[in-house]
Amino acid sequence: MRVYLDHAATTPVDARVLEAMLPYFSERCGNASSLHSFGQEARAGVDTARAQVAAAIGARPAEIVFTSGATEADNLAVLGTALAQEERGRHIVTSAIEHSAVLEPCRFLEARGYTVTYVPVDGRGLIDPDDVRRALRPDTVLVTIMAANNEIGTVQPVADIGRLTRERGVPFHTDATQMVGTLPMRVDELGVDLLSISGHKRYGPKGVGALYVRRGTPCRRLQHGGEHERGRRGGTENVPGIVGLGAALHLAGALMEEERRRVEALRDRLVATALEIPGARLNGDPARRLPNNANLSFEGTDGQSLVIGLDLQGVAASSGSACSSGSVEPSHVLLALGLAPELAGAAVRLTLGRRTTEAEVDFAAAMLRQVVTGLRRGAPSRV
Ligand SMILES: *Cc1c(COP(=O)(O)O)cnc(C)c1O
Repeated sequence: MRVYLDHAATTPVDARVLEAMLPYFSERCGNASSLHSFGQEARAGVDTARAQVAAAIGARPAEIVFTSGATEADNLAVLGTALAQEERGRHIVTSAIEHSAVLEPCRFLEARGYTVTYVPVDGRGLIDPDDVRRALRPDTVLVTIMAANNEIGTVQPVADIGRLTRERGVPFHTDATQMVGTLPMRVDELGVDLLSISGHKRYGPKGVGALYVRRGTPCRRLQHGGEHERGRRGGTENVPGIVGLGAALHLAGALMEEERRRVEALRDRLVATALEIPGARLNGDPARRLPNNANLSFEGTDGQSLVIGLDLQGVAASSGSACSSGSVEPSHVLLALGLAPELAGAAVRLTLGRRTTEAEVDFAAAMLRQVVTGLRRGAPSRV
């Protein structure tokens, strides 16, 4: 049995999405900027996708900027709003548990004279909106707080943060890569001005995403070259990818309610079984979390060995640890929760998907027990 439980890292392209994309690789091969009928067909595909992406988050089509993925969308949100407001100030508010696609552009700005406030999280990974309020300064040009965390699945109080950024007139960006298409979200209800989306996290293709930019939000382009995307991102549109992103979000919206219930029940079953293993703990918030996310630590093990051990048994998971310069470092997210480094380094993330079955979940839980037991036996001094 081979079981894929790493849907937070990427998802397979849904057959219906692939079908929608295929004509745009061949018959409808035009450049969306061309005047002839081939170009107009491509343009129509992009327009439909723009409307589908906008509908998925309650935005207007003109507020969607297609990008090469959520990493580019995050970079455009952070650097683009900073550049557009150089006169206003050089202070940014973010959280300690953001994705590197937000943290690294923030660090880039820090090295160039900006100040960044990293709001902490509690033991479950939740941000206190009052901490965001206290962090705001007259020279704050952006608040960027993710909607749901990719490692522990914690869903943040985005609407509460949106209310206070709106009161203060500060642009608010949320990286919603893990949330769009999974849980309902409307930009007006959340009070967000910028929102990042990725295709491949929602059964669409890799290498395509979008940034929602509310009308009137200061955001300078980073990619110069052409007047594509209303002058907000130069470059010939990735027409098949964009069509796939639109189809993927449209489909995710239609399946959302049923999928949420089904996947959540399977996830709860997996977590309950896994917690029967001695020395196991669930990381993140037990209730306020993405329906498909299970993140667990097992005392006396290490994340990398768990992932390798599970893979040998046919189960694909993630350690949530970043391998940098040859050494495996515990996740910055788990450390921010206050986990001891040994427990943060002993974590495994299992993320379920659209095709995950009960039999797969039970198999994964059994393999988890076997691998954990094996690792402890191999390293008795660490139990
Ligand atoms: C995957 C992910 C990204 C990066 O998305 P890409 O489209 O792969 O560039 C950014 N933020 C979060 C929260 C993610 O999960």
